[in-house]
Amino acid sequence: MDHKFYEELAKQSIAGEELDHATCTQILGSKQIELLPLINAAYVVRKHFRGKEVVIHIINNAQNGHCPEDCHYCAQAQSSKADIEEYGLKSDEEMLEEARQAYAKGAYRYCMVYAGRGASSKRIERLTRLINKIKLEYPNHEICVSTGLVTSEGAKALKKAGLDRLNHNLNTSESFYPNICTTHTFADRLNTLLAAREAGIEVCSGIIAGMGEAHQDLIEVAKRLRFFKAASIPVNFLIPIEGNQLSEPQDLTPEFCLRILCLFRFLNPQSEVRVGAGREGHLRGLEVLALYPANSLFLQGYLNTKGSSNVKTLQMIKDAGFEIKSDVNLEELLASQAQDDPVKGFDDAKAIIKDLKDLRPVLKF
Ligand code: SF4
Repeated sequence: MDHKFYEELAKQSIAGEELDHATCTQILGSKQIELLPLINAAYVVRKHFRGKEVVIHIINNAQNGHCPEDCHYCAQAQSSKADIEEYGLKSDEEMLEEARQAYAKGAYRYCMVYAGRGASSKRIERLTRLINKIKLEYPNHEICVSTGLVTSEGAKALKKAGLDRLNHNLNTSESFYPNICTTHTFADRLNTLLAAREAGIEVCSGIIAGMGEAHQDLIEVAKRLRFFKAASIPVNFLIPIEGNQLSEPQDLTPEFCLRILCLFRFLNPQSEVRVGAGREGHLRGLEVLALYPANSLFLQGYLNTKGSSNVKTLQMIKDAGFEIKSDVNLEELLASQAQDDPVKGFDDAKAIIKDLKDLRPVLKF
């Protein structure tokens, strides 16, 4: 392909035109489309809408395990035999203290993740109290909640409490969904996104690549998220956790992961596209290139597995000449983290399960 092809891709995306199916298929699989000019075209779009900022997310498990659902990729599912440390719901005080720590570490948005099928009215009530408390202390920071299926009433109550975003991943296409979960449906997930959208809450919804889906499924879900105008799209890559029903990632080379990120950027030009779980192991030496299509990442690992050390991630952002969206200056953050966090992190695709002190760092309660 000549340079005009790549220029046209960026131009079309910035103009809000949806790429046709043939072009999407080529982006994912055609050798005629070369990786570096493709990434550059995605970067033109990213820079146009999101500048050179990187948005840092830190996720916090409000509880761990005890989930009756059977999402095949999840270590907290009842069907998983993964060796994780289970615990019940953390107290509001513990969640609040962890929010303080997340914001101090440069997080712009604090994400609270609750395992389980969905949010009962009791859970919603408790969440509204907690969101109120966090917002009182941090009116300029954002809060995201992931709490499974949410009804319209639940979404309205969360919005009233000050919730900025609701996370609920579609994960894959509608037709592939029965291959990754049997206890709820794709339609259930769509209804939660609709409830959030109707309540005026921003939608965060992403995918997991590498679960055996076809290119077609990735294109379909990227277009579905475009339809929803998802404000935030975490693009996760399946982490091989021993004991999960889905524990063997399929077809994920570093190049393919980058092509997926470019596709999501072209189809969702204004969204916060996040290079999500598994970036370290699947992108390997090409990890930094993910910051060109994506403008966001997770710091401090994922729900049940460790990621790179904070220092390594922050240094990568600095070395590539990006900035972070935070009240805290990147240089100062790096200096302070270097003292607290001298750990080198991990560099290979092997999943390292978090232990209790990673999952519950605040143990004074
Ligand atoms: S993804 Fe959520 S609903 Fe599914 S098994 Fe894991 S915790 Fe439960």
